[in-house]
Amino acid sequence: MNKRRELVNTLRNMGYIKTDKVKKAMLNVPREEFMTPETRDLAYLDRPIPLKHGQTISAPHMVAMICEQLSLKPGMNVLEIGTGFGYNAAVVAEILGPEGHVYTIERIESLKERAEKNLIKTGFTNVAVIHGDGTAGYPEKAPYDRIYATASAPKIPDPLVDQLKVGGRLLAPIGEDPNYQELICILRGGKTEYQTFNLGGVVFVPMIGEHGWPEE
Ligand code: SAM
Repeated sequence: MNKRRELVNTLRNMGYIKTDKVKKAMLNVPREEFMTPETRDLAYLDRPIPLKHGQTISAPHMVAMICEQLSLKPGMNVLEIGTGFGYNAAVVAEILGPEGHVYTIERIESLKERAEKNLIKTGFTNVAVIHGDGTAGYPEKAPYDRIYATASAPKIPDPLVDQLKVGGRLLAPIGEDPNYQELICILRGGKTEYQTFNLGGVVFVPMIGEHGWPEE
């Protein structure tokens, strides 16, 4: 817990954590429970850490930044693309509270299964992990107050925009360079009314699927 508190204080001092709700959630969620046994000791370094199948658990500062930019409120309905081992989904679920829902989609089945176990073990009953292609979104539970992707696509997948509520917000890393993308934020103001903002440079693994990158 001391290491977790130290990391959270550092992220607060660096300006990645801005609000008490994100601070509290990152203090409450044990990142080590969302790592492989070999990397548990690295849980409180501010680094992306390898999972399996060439994928990574996002760096804590990126999780903080996403949670702040999403401007989450208790009870919201949220869709995540790219579950990994489930850490970012757990932090979001902690902010939403028991009335909120997170639907998170992972394309690699063994990661989906591991994330599900991690979320059950840590007591997150308000997160549903779905195995599939997240570039198509998850129409079954749409529309969403918030949608965010933790994998990068050449352009924002149309189905995600369609599944956003009016008044909703979408965040996704977009770009064609595997080593540099831009975190794009879309605010949906009306049925056909959107505002787009560029929140700056990031690096994420590719979003592979029908509306993302093709499988090699
Ligand atoms: N959210 C994770 C966390 O909490 O650390 C980080 C996930 S990792 C950076 C990105 C994940 O997106 C990988 O697990 C990858 O398999 C997954 N992914 C890539 N393309 C996808 C797609 N089309 N649908 C669902 N998941 C996808």
